[in-house]
Amino acid sequence: MKITLADHYGMCFGVRDALQVTGEVAAAGPTTVLGDLVHNGVVQRQLAALGVKRGSLAEVGASATERVIITAHGAAEGQRRAWRDAGFAVTDTTCPLVRKAHRALAQLVAGGARAVVIGQAGHAEVRGLCGDFPEVAVVESAEEVEALGFAPRFGVVAQTTQPLGKVLDLVECLRRRHPGAEVVYRDTVCQPTKDRQSAMERLVREQECVVVVGGRHSNNTRQLSETARRAGVAVRQVETAEELQAAWFAGVTRVGVTAGTSTLEETVQAVVTRLEAFGNGRAEEAAEAGAGGIEISGRTGALAF
Ligand code: SF4
Repeated sequence: MKITLADHYGMCFGVRDALQVTGEVAAAGPTTVLGDLVHNGVVQRQLAALGVKRGSLAEVGASATERVIITAHGAAEGQRRAWRDAGFAVTDTTCPLVRKAHRALAQLVAGGARAVVIGQAGHAEVRGLCGDFPEVAVVESAEEVEALGFAPRFGVVAQTTQPLGKVLDLVECLRRRHPGAEVVYRDTVCQPTKDRQSAMERLVREQECVVVVGGRHSNNTRQLSETARRAGVAVRQVETAEELQAAWFAGVTRVGVTAGTSTLEETVQAVVTRLEAFGNGRAEEAAEAGAGGIEISGRTGALAF
């Protein structure tokens, strides 16, 4: 079985930096991450092992001595101000490319446009984007775009992890729906997402099956799987190597591997090792690769990534 890695895959700089900063803050004392730092169970288990709590401040009963972390997904400015005013030591790990999306949306609203966010309603990044602008419409499908009422000027941004092709299709859909309206679109899909999506499009051309490694609740991982499905290629999405089953690859000669932007390199390598063992019929080695997981050596404040 030939195994090919996508030419762009795995953890992006935004997630890597957020993990690095969180590890440093957690080493200094009690720390609460406001939500999921990343939508990846392996990384969340690492953070929990460092003593990092997750949730809202009310849920974890945090005191004003607590260090709180805003995740790479960002937060609404009003929320950020409220936490600071309440006396919490706030560390903000919002990705610069999420900040760029916030700025684009704020400019469109200030310019009088009816604001539209193409993204997953309820996702942390989208909640943060819309938090300061309750009138923003969130859409993710052509049906939702069709349902938007007329406005003379629309201002459109996208969640950073949406596939660019889908975003452009929905912008065109809005233009067709309201030909008399001006539709201003700002491209806020981040470059790591674009790179992983286009690498996936190249990868699926050559493969019978693709393994996507990433968190079950990770939007960009889900979108990578969708791209493979749309191309008609069999896709298996897993969070860890242990989840892979030999039977999935019976008779398969070419397998592609990619990973979402919050997936650790160690997790990807464990997946490749297990696939190689499947290909060579070494079941015991495959089991070992699956069980290996990610080691955390003590409460050092350093994350193993
Ligand atoms: S996926 Fe994109 S926007 Fe999100 S943290 Fe990574 S680089 Fe930043």
